[in-house]
Amino acid sequence: MSGGGTIHSPDFLLGWVGEKPGMKVAVFSSKPYDKHFLNAANAGVGHELIYYDTKLDVNTAPLVGDAPAVCVFVHDVLNRATLEILRQCGVKLIALRCTGFNHVDLQAAGELGLTVVRVTAYSPYSVAEHAVGLILTLSRKYHRAYNRVREGNFSLDGLLGFDLHARTVGIIGTGKIGMVFAQILEGFGCRLLGYDTCPNPNFPKLNRAEYVSLDELYAQSDIISLHCPLLPETYHLIDRAALAKMKPGVILINVSRGALIDTEAVIEGLKSRKIGALGLDVYEEEEGLFFQDLSFQIIQDDVFQRLLTFPNVLVTGHQAFFTQEALTDIAKITISNISDFAAGRPCPHEIRYTPKP
Ligand code: NAD
Repeated sequence: MSGGGTIHSPDFLLGWVGEKPGMKVAVFSSKPYDKHFLNAANAGVGHELIYYDTKLDVNTAPLVGDAPAVCVFVHDVLNRATLEILRQCGVKLIALRCTGFNHVDLQAAGELGLTVVRVTAYSPYSVAEHAVGLILTLSRKYHRAYNRVREGNFSLDGLLGFDLHARTVGIIGTGKIGMVFAQILEGFGCRLLGYDTCPNPNFPKLNRAEYVSLDELYAQSDIISLHCPLLPETYHLIDRAALAKMKPGVILINVSRGALIDTEAVIEGLKSRKIGALGLDVYEEEEGLFFQDLSFQIIQDDVFQRLLTFPNVLVTGHQAFFTQEALTDIAKITISNISDFAAGRPCPHEIRYTPKP
């Protein structure tokens, strides 16, 4: 307990560790790296972190036991049914260890009196640099060269690339990640076309950067990279109609959210060669695939498997965020969010349902 005796621990707290209240937290979808970074951030803070490798959904929610908080990631299912069970178990706090919250029914959470906090920002360099890595791999064919050289094949046939310098890159969403991505490509000497529903005053200050309409971006870009959130209005933003407006041979990059792209339309675009190359770190149906080792299983998703047959498609399994710096930021902010709640302080990273006007 605190030294002064004037602070009373709410009933959901474990007690006080030094001057700090500790909370019991059920951490779902936890991998060894989550444990490593969360334990490091929690050192000396005193929350009791109980790790479950299973994902949170309506069936696993009772695992929460008497923990008043859950900590979850992008594939945990936080729909109304799950939230109701959590509430019945006495949960008060949902701490997301990610930025996106499209998987949380915020309206239900609000009605059930559940506080939801998230990691509003972490190293944007992690995701932006990964997007640039996908572009370079596709444009210079590193993925093919790697295998070739290992087999003693030093022929350059089929590896012809192109300079990024002076190419036009369209950036949809110029927030934290989109801006870092733009700055990196400014360094390559690219021309940058931005589109954002809420323009960033710093974007047009970059060399050779300007905002244009979405149609102009589609018509003029050699490379298009998506850095906007998944919202009802951005669902399948890249569909047949959008592809029809793009340059033949366009390179498409999506490190944002899978459902920004209509995958079947993109497969048609690859078959017709409208799309010159495709780099994905996210996939609309990734939930049953990514973050697990399925190398001994028969993958049932034929659309995904078709994607993998193209020589000019590169897919990574939602790893753009996966750097030491980003995981350190995520863990520190998550623990700090939990501490704010435990101490009864307002949390700057709380998110609430806002009805559409
Ligand atoms: P951010 O909020 O800083 O920026 C998003 C930008 O998109 C904002 O400028 C916003 O105005 C703009 N935007 C919103 N709606 C738009 C629309 N309809 N058209 C064009 N622009 C629109 O977010 P951020 O931190 O830069 O993250 C961007 C996205 O990256 C996240 O939403 C998330 O989906 C994704 N992400 C992916 C990974 C990964 O590991 N692959 C990790 C973190 C984030």
